[in-house]
Amino acid sequence: MSIIVQKFGGTSVADSEKILAAARKAVRAQKEGHQVVMVVSAMGKNTDLLIDLARQIHKDPPAREMDMLLSTGEQVSVALMAMAIDSLGQQAISFTGAQIGIKTDSTYTKARIRSIATDRMRQSLDEGKIVIAAGFQGIDEGFNITTLGRGGSDTTAVALAAVLHADVCEIFTDVDGVYTTDPRLVPDARRVNRISYDEMLELASAGAGVMHNRSIEFAKKFNVPVHVRSSFSDNPGTLICAEPEAPGQPVCGTALVRNEARVTLLGVPDRPGAATAVFSRVAARNVAMDMIVQNVGANGLAEISFTVFRDDLPATLKAVEEATREIGAAGYNYDDNVSKVSVVGLGMATQPGVAEKMFRALAEKEINILMISTSEIKISVLVDRDVAVDALRTMHSAFQLDVQPDCVPKEVIGAAASRLNNNTADVVARMQGMEDLIIEGITLDESQARVTLVGVPDRPGLAAHVFEQIAAGGIVVDMIVQSVGREGQATLSFTVPQTDLAKSLETAGRLAKELNCGAPTSCPRVAKLAVSGTGMRSHTGVARRLFQCLADVGINVDMISTSEMQISVVVDGSQGQKAQDALRKKFADVMV
Ligand code: ADP
Ligand code: ASP
Ligand code: MG
Repeated sequence: MSIIVQKFGGTSVADSEKILAAARKAVRAQKEGHQVVMVVSAMGKNTDLLIDLARQIHKDPPAREMDMLLSTGEQVSVALMAMAIDSLGQQAISFTGAQIGIKTDSTYTKARIRSIATDRMRQSLDEGKIVIAAGFQGIDEGFNITTLGRGGSDTTAVALAAVLHADVCEIFTDVDGVYTTDPRLVPDARRVNRISYDEMLELASAGAGVMHNRSIEFAKKFNVPVHVRSSFSDNPGTLICAEPEAPGQPVCGTALVRNEARVTLLGVPDRPGAATAVFSRVAARNVAMDMIVQNVGANGLAEISFTVFRDDLPATLKAVEEATREIGAAGYNYDDNVSKVSVVGLGMATQPGVAEKMFRALAEKEINILMISTSEIKISVLVDRDVAVDALRTMHSAFQLDVQPDCVPKEVIGAAASRLNNNTADVVARMQGMEDLIIEGITLDESQARVTLVGVPDRPGLAAHVFEQIAAGGIVVDMIVQSVGREGQATLSFTVPQTDLAKSLETAGRLAKELNCGAPTSCPRVAKLAVSGTGMRSHTGVARRLFQCLADVGINVDMISTSEMQISVVVDGSQGQKAQDALRKKFADVMV
C-alpha cells in the first residue's frame, strides 16, 4: 500500500481549528487509499516562547535542558492531533521521536539523525491507524532527548518518508509553494512548479526559510519527492525533485540571510596551514562559517574573510583573536551590520554572464558589494544590512524571476519522480548514519590562470565595471572572489582559461591604471580542486579537514569558495595532482 508523509508547520497547527483542518487532510488521504504518517511542529510560535522563557532564567541555558524543553512543543501538537483524528472517527496514534526510535548523535540543539526504526510505525499503519510523529526531535544513545535545529520538523518528515519509502512527502505550510524568493519581502515573487534538489539546497542555505536545508539533503540522498503546498487550500504547490523547472534558466531564485557578520583577518602569512588555524579555532567553538573567501594578497600576505550568523560573532571573535596571535597575522576587523544576498540556478554553470548582470544591477542602484563568492550554481554577495532587501528586489527583477520561463511543462505535480536508483541504494547501504557526509567527487581543473587586483577602490559599480570589461574581451571568468576590509580597498581575484591570460592581464592592467590601484598580479597556471557532495556545509568540519589535508602536504591555498554542494580551492598549478591525491586519500572513507 502506498504511504504518504504529511508535515504541518507551526502556523498550520496554531489553533484548534487549524489542527482539525490538518486532521481532515490526513483522513482524506487515508480514505483515498494511502497509509498516512503525519509529522507536526509545535503550535504557532511556541518554540520561540519556550526559548524566551529559558533565556529569562539563564542567559546561556545548558543545551541538554534546552532540548528537553523545546521537545515539549511538538509533544503537545501530536497529542492534540491524535485527538482531532479520533474526533473525526478515525484511529490515530501519536509518537515522540524517542518512541519511534529516531536515533541521533548527542549534539544538543542541532543533533543529526543516525537511524530510524520503522517497525512500530509500520505496525500501526497496518492496523489502519494514522501515525502522528513529533517533528524536530530524537533520542541519543544515552536516552537523552535531542532536537534537530530550528525548522527541523521538515527534516523529520523527509527522513521518515525516506525510511518508509513513501510515495511523497507533503510539506503543508503558510505559503502555497516555493517561490522565486520570499514572497513576504518581494511581492512580485512567483511560485515555481518544480525545483531541483540542488537548487533548493542552495536556496535554503542562502536563506530561503521555507525548507530546512538538511531536509533537502535527505530528499536528494534518498530521492524523496517533496511537495510543498498550502495548508489552507488544495491547490498543487511546488515539487522538489531531481529535475529543475526550466533546465536552461540561469537563475531560478534569490535569497537573503539578513543577520550576518563579516570577519577579516588581515596580513595573514601566505603559507600552508594559516587557514586551518583559523577554521579549526572557529569550529572548536561550534560556529559554522558561511561565506569563506581567501584572497592572495600583496607581498606574500593573504586576507581571509568569512561570515557567520551575527549571533555567533562574540564567540567567533574570541577564536579569531587566538588565531591572529598564533599565525602572526597583522590584525583583524569585522562588520556586524551586513547581509548576504544570493542568486541560485543550475543553468549558470553553463551560461556565462550571470555575475556581470548581477553586479551591474546592484551598481545601478548604487549598492556597494562588500564581498563576492561564486560557485557552480550560486553567486553570493555581502551588502550593508540597510540595503539588503533592496538588493534582493533588484536581483529578482534583473533576472525577471517574476516571469514564468517558457519551457516549463504546465503540470508537473504528479509527474512521478523515479524512486531510489541503484547508485543511491548503494550509497545508503554504505552509510553509518543517515545524515553522514557523502563526497561524490574530487575534480581537478588544470586549465585556468588567476588574475588578482589589489587595492581596488571599494565603491558601488566597481565589480560590474571590471567584469564587463573582461567579458567585453570575450573572456569567460570562472571563479570570482572579492574580499574587502573597511579601509576603502578591495581585493578581487578571478580565474580565466590559461589561453586568455594575456588578454585578461591587458584589460586588468588598463583597469588598474584607470582605478589607480597597483598593477595586477597573476599566476599563469593554477589548479582548481572542487570537492563536491551532500552535506558539505552542514557538516562544519569539511572545510577544516580539507585545509588541514592540504597544509599537511605543504600546499598553500590561493582562493577558496564554498557552497552547499561544493568547496573549491585554487592552488599553484604545479601542485594540482598532489593536492587531488591527498584529498582523495583524506576523504576515502566518505567517497562514493
Ligand atoms: P512552517 O512553520 O510551516 O515550517 P516556515 O515559516 O518555516 O513555515 O516557512 C514558510 C515561510 O518561509 C513563508 O511564510 C515565507 O515567508 C518564507 N519563505 C522564505 N523564502 C521563501 C521562498 N523562496 N518561497 C516560499 N516561502 C519562503
Ligand atoms: N518547532 C521547531 C521550530 O520552531 C521545529 C519546526 O517547526 O520545524 O523550529
Ligand atoms: Mg519551517
